[in-house]
Amino acid sequence: MKISDIPSSIGGLQILLFAENDDSVKFLDQLNLIVNNEKIGESRYLAICRESHGEKNVLLVFSDDSSNIKGLLTVGSVSDGMEVAEKSYKGITDNWMEADCSDEKKEITAFELNKCTFCEKLSREVAGLHGTEKALICNECIEYFYDLVNKSE
Ligand SMILES: [Zn+2]
Repeated sequence: MKISDIPSSIGGLQILLFAENDDSVKFLDQLNLIVNNEKIGESRYLAICRESHGEKNVLLVFSDDSSNIKGLLTVGSVSDGMEVAEKSYKGITDNWMEADCSDEKKEITAFELNKCTFCEKLSREVAGLHGTEKALICNECIEYFYDLVNKSE
């Protein structure tokens, strides 16, 4: 799937990340998502979206094409959504692609992915991440910059 094939919205929701359930993904059916009294089965596409109004919740969306939502779940963050998706769609983590959105929205995505602003390591790759809503720094970069500052004195 090419980045240009990724829709920017689905059912009016802004897409942050999009993934195709292709041959590399194994459907494990671990999710009990009931819509209209029916459990939704395997979906072709998964998306992590953000509500554009109100609470601005992050949603994990399931669909069979790029315009119709079969079902959705509210998740705490983008990384939570990826974790929930991986439980039912083994291997989908490798398929997530960032939707082509504005720089401001990309910044939000990077922040919600809990990535170090300096070395881009994810929170799960480092011992700790610290920061503000604008920037995050990992423990490794703190040590690096600490040494740098102290050596130059
Ligand atoms: Zn870092």
